[in-house]
Amino acid sequence: MKKLLVCDMHTHTHYSFDSHQSLQGYCEQAIKVGVDVICFTDHIECGQLNTFNEFLFEQRQREIEQVRKLYQGRVTLLNGFEISEPHMHQKELAFLRSLQPDMIIGSVHYPMHYQPENKWVDRRTYETIYNQCVRDMVECGGFDVLGHIDMPRRYHDDYVEDTAYIQKTLKLCAEKGIVPEMNTSSLRNGCAEPMATSQHIAYYASCGGKYVTVSSDSHNADTLGYKVKETMQCLTCVTPCYFVGGKLIPIE
Ligand SMILES: [Zn+2]
Ligand SMILES: [Zn+2]
Repeated sequence: MKKLLVCDMHTHTHYSFDSHQSLQGYCEQAIKVGVDVICFTDHIECGQLNTFNEFLFEQRQREIEQVRKLYQGRVTLLNGFEISEPHMHQKELAFLRSLQPDMIIGSVHYPMHYQPENKWVDRRTYETIYNQCVRDMVECGGFDVLGHIDMPRRYHDDYVEDTAYIQKTLKLCAEKGIVPEMNTSSLRNGCAEPMATSQHIAYYASCGGKYVTVSSDSHNADTLGYKVKETMQCLTCVTPCYFVGGKLIPIE
């Protein structure tokens, strides 16, 4: 049997505002736990929380290239970004594209400047706003991968899914060639399913969607590859993939 190429397609390094993790630390862990490909997808925030203006783009690029050389033949490193609400930040998105990264994740973190710690709306309202913002973002497009389609699941233990709404967003992904990720960070938070869930992905496949990425959304090396291989192995109706230079590569 051919060995499965284990790709963790969403990780944060010390270039993200909420991580202190070194790139080399990830590589050492990858060798330990059997991850073949790591995509670094550091946060690009352009709203009230702004990390774009101070982001060390050149330094990060140089460091990725250095560490890539160091681990050549053992771990493959990809250069990506996770931009929040890209439909509201088109200029910044265009700038990221101009850097020709391997992959861009579009995610919703702060719809309408909501921060989970500021409880100015109730959970149900937040879930609705979140879903609408994801839909607007997918309609606008311009990125490769849709991050954690149902992220409130990770934080709300009484999460109520609006299945019909999410399904329409998944159909749109299939039509537009935007690849949903299966983000396993929810499994670390006690959820039974990644974000998107296996049911979401079955629906996406029924709409003609073919590919997903699988990722741990790690902010430190300890969680690199968490349930990534297992999730990849459970896929039946879609094919896992990774991206190089913006080009989708199926993992057969
Ligand atoms: Zn995210
Ligand atoms: Zn992330």
